[in-house]
Amino acid sequence: MAYKNVLITGCSSGIGLALAVRLAKDELKRFKVIATMRDMAKKGPLEEKAGETLEKTLQILPLDVTCEDSVRQCVATIPDQRVDVLVSNAGVGLIGPLECHSMAAMQRVLDVNFLGLVRLVREVFPSMKRRRQGHIVVMSSILGQQGLLFNDVYCASKFAVEGFCESLALQALKFGVNISLLEPGPVVTEFEKKLYDEVASMDFSKVDPETRDIFQGFYMAYSKDVFSALGQTPEEVAEHAVQVIGAARPPFRCQTNSVYTPLTTLKHADPSGRLPLSAFHQLVFQHDRLFRASLSLLKMLQWRKRRDLGPLPRPPAPP
Ligand code: NAD
Repeated sequence: MAYKNVLITGCSSGIGLALAVRLAKDELKRFKVIATMRDMAKKGPLEEKAGETLEKTLQILPLDVTCEDSVRQCVATIPDQRVDVLVSNAGVGLIGPLECHSMAAMQRVLDVNFLGLVRLVREVFPSMKRRRQGHIVVMSSILGQQGLLFNDVYCASKFAVEGFCESLALQALKFGVNISLLEPGPVVTEFEKKLYDEVASMDFSKVDPETRDIFQGFYMAYSKDVFSALGQTPEEVAEHAVQVIGAARPPFRCQTNSVYTPLTTLKHADPSGRLPLSAFHQLVFQHDRLFRASLSLLKMLQWRKRRDLGPLPRPPAPP
């Protein structure tokens, strides 16, 4: 069979949407994309971007990663239940002081980001092993490698994803199945906006003033600067995913933003863990002006890079 069935979760927006469209429009027609989403009422933007690939190389199906039945039903509709490539992309974020989060909110993050992946893998891995082929591509994060201030539970969910995949990859290899973790840094998608919307209605009543100041006064401003200085587009991340999916020998890990590689290297350079912890502490609490100045410089370089690439094509004028 010439094409591969690629099942992707979380395709109503962001990276999932960009990747689904990119694969469906593959010039070599290597893929049939099963682009899934939790809420089918949100399929409009994907349908629009998919254009004439819709119902040809791309079909849209419902799938909620928090529901085992939903995962099973979706896979059951695929001919021979043959998923050649699974892209576990659906995810949610959570930022802020721990005192602001309800247990339910934290459980949801783990349920979507970690157990969502486990449900998908349980459904497709046995048949991949039987066929002795398959590829599981997982949207992790650079925060699956390195913790970040006020991202405690989100990082924990991505660390769980990394530990799960690192363990499973050994068994998978024995059966000719590949597992790959994609580790983006910041990506400019609805993810960021959803986080800021949540912060706007956050209850800070249980948080001490100093922690609140660090979060609201420092973290929030810094986070916005980081996204605008270093943020990739979902299309850029999708391009990395396409390389990984198309590779003859797929890598186990792929960082999509080289700016972050030194941070993860620090961690592996010092098994005591002191080096990255003190480097981050100094950067955030002692040299924050230098940090902000570097971000401004990076932002300007990004702006110049985009300017030099030329203006984006204008949408056609309305009739
Ligand atoms: P996004 O919010 O645009 O996309 C996330 C998608 O997951 C949405 O379509 C959402 O509806 C879907 N989703 C949420 N809960 C779901 C559920 N229960 N079942 C099915 N789908 C569900 O954000 P994005 O940036 O495109 O995020 C995609 C992935 O990339 C996530 O796993 C995220 O953790 C990861 N990531 C994002 C960034 C970033 O800065 N945006 C950085 C690193 C990693």
